[in-house]
Amino acid sequence: MMRTTWIAALGALAAALTLPAVAQTVKVTPLGGIDGEFCPQDRALIFEDPNGTRILYDPGRTVAGASDPRLGKIDIVLVSHMHGDHAGNAHNKEPNSGSCAQPDMSVSAMPNSNAVNIALAKKSKIVTGSEMPAFFAAKLKANGGDPTNSILTRFGGSVTVSGVRIATVTAMHSNGLDPDYIGGDLGKAMKEAGIAGDVGLATGYVLRFSNGLVAYLSGDTGITADQELVVRNHYNAKLVVMNIGDGFTTGPAEAAYVVNELVKPASVIASHANEVGTASGKVRPGSKTETFMKAAKMPVHIPLSGKTMEFDAAGKCTAGC
Ligand SMILES: [Zn+2]
Repeated sequence: MMRTTWIAALGALAAALTLPAVAQTVKVTPLGGIDGEFCPQDRALIFEDPNGTRILYDPGRTVAGASDPRLGKIDIVLVSHMHGDHAGNAHNKEPNSGSCAQPDMSVSAMPNSNAVNIALAKKSKIVTGSEMPAFFAAKLKANGGDPTNSILTRFGGSVTVSGVRIATVTAMHSNGLDPDYIGGDLGKAMKEAGIAGDVGLATGYVLRFSNGLVAYLSGDTGITADQELVVRNHYNAKLVVMNIGDGFTTGPAEAAYVVNELVKPASVIASHANEVGTASGKVRPGSKTETFMKAAKMPVHIPLSGKTMEFDAAGKCTAGC
């Protein structure tokens, strides 16, 4: 009798001790163009690790510069590649300006980019792969920032920053640097010749958060063998942020193939739809977003701007989806 009681008490104690760890989630908050909707330019996501580290992924054009009140503390900025809709060549004046279909992108962020301006103001690290770190270090330095805040994580390796392990993976895309980032006579001559600057290959990211969740952020990409060989077989990603926009990247059918057959995560967040994906927060019938949701075999969560979703270590959405 006594012994049974003790075992029960120990069991309860063990459960109480492990519960906080089980309950730890990664919070994902989309910073899109219009609150509660999924709009054409939406790329930006904030990932908040259970340890409090806040990571901004591809600020693009929907984050209203460094003074956007939705940003809060930003420890790390990630930029998958240099195209204007990801690094942010321009952005809205404030959240919810313009409409979902016709976003306001009236504030130029050239020659710095939205990503650099945010990192300067927030004193964030910029963690990128390929040959982008030198570009970001030069921009930070030119604007009175600390160039050592630009950190390299090139294919095959990883860095751990503020408790989050960050690796880059291949993205089958392009990564030309707009000559307006270069400026001067050289930038002008390049622009006239139709030539972009070279900052290496475009990338995706694999993040491992302190609760064990592994997330794959596709960036702009086509279908690649690495999505199975590296992202699933090696990193074992359980949450995928997948581009579905077509034309520039995988469309709904190709994106569904990637998640169903190659990466096989527990959940997916749709991204980069290049369409009005929702109306009044509901997926629009006939949209690419709807086609992708129907084709994917696992739950697809729609990044409604400002709505925080929480994911456990297994990649399951536990709140906000
Ligand atoms: Zn691109």
